[in-house]
Amino acid sequence: MAAQILDGKKLSRETESELGARVVALKQDNDGIPPILATILVGADPASATYVRMKQNACRRIGMESIAVEMPSETTTKELLEKISELNANKNCHGILLQHPVPAHIDERACFDEISLEKDVDGVTCLGFGRMAMNEEAYGSATPQGIMRLLEAYKIPLEGKHAVVVGRSPILGKPMGLMMLNANATVTICHSRTTNLPEIIKTADVIVGAVGRPEFIRSKWIADDAIVVDAGFHPGGFGDIELEPLHNRVAALTPVPGGVGPMTINTLILQCVEAAEKALSSS
Ligand code: NAP
Repeated sequence: MAAQILDGKKLSRETESELGARVVALKQDNDGIPPILATILVGADPASATYVRMKQNACRRIGMESIAVEMPSETTTKELLEKISELNANKNCHGILLQHPVPAHIDERACFDEISLEKDVDGVTCLGFGRMAMNEEAYGSATPQGIMRLLEAYKIPLEGKHAVVVGRSPILGKPMGLMMLNANATVTICHSRTTNLPEIIKTADVIVGAVGRPEFIRSKWIADDAIVVDAGFHPGGFGDIELEPLHNRVAALTPVPGGVGPMTINTLILQCVEAAEKALSSS
């Protein structure tokens, strides 16, 4: 049977029309001020610039605004911390996105952690991560949170399933593992020192590829009827998983492109709308 396609593009479009209505309501209640996301781009990496532009465009599509902060590659950690602190204090900024990665000489972790919890709509702070892990209120890291929303929308059960996450980065693999654990999956997180990766993947009911290497996870490692989530995106339209041979064999899969990518951006703007709603209700 053909695998069910977990269509992130479709779900994100549907969510955008609902978010548009929430933005209209917010503006009415807030003197015409929409939710505003600050995007911070440091340096001139073309891929990062494209991602930031896509996020700004998503804001525009739902009537939100964005503050575009662009800083040169030579920016110091101190200068970036100061800029974040200024945005934290700006009442007309509801969410802050610091585009990863920043140039290597900058202490990215310190800068992420400078973002106040209420504005951490991309889910990158240690505090937000810890709260999420403890099942306390916090904005989830956008990519894994987007994956959870996609699985939920397609009513994919995680309880009691063996979920294997390949990758343990702070913004993707690690929070993904904890979110799935919180959803009562039995979770294995794999990384570059994992031995017997193919054998572990063969036991997965749900497999998440977050490795950063095109088609690194081979289709033959994946069991029939698995749920396949591919977070990767590489030039040529490849993901981290060899997807093509899986279409007639697994239960469901996220396409590349059009699966996880649109859900990441959609989750960022959804969480920014939520942050603006919370700011308004507590003002
Ligand atoms: P990352 O920071 O480079 O992390 C890659 C992870 O993969 C690391 O934990 C690494 O393990 C692990 N890994 C590397 N080689 C491995 C191997 N041979 N066997 C097993 N594990 C291995 O990457 P990331 O930021 O998490 O991104 C992962 C993928 O997701 C990339 O393809 C990226 O383009 C994509 N992504 C997509 C979105 C989106 O919006 N769709 C957003 C973010 C990222 P160690 O920890 O041991 O080094």
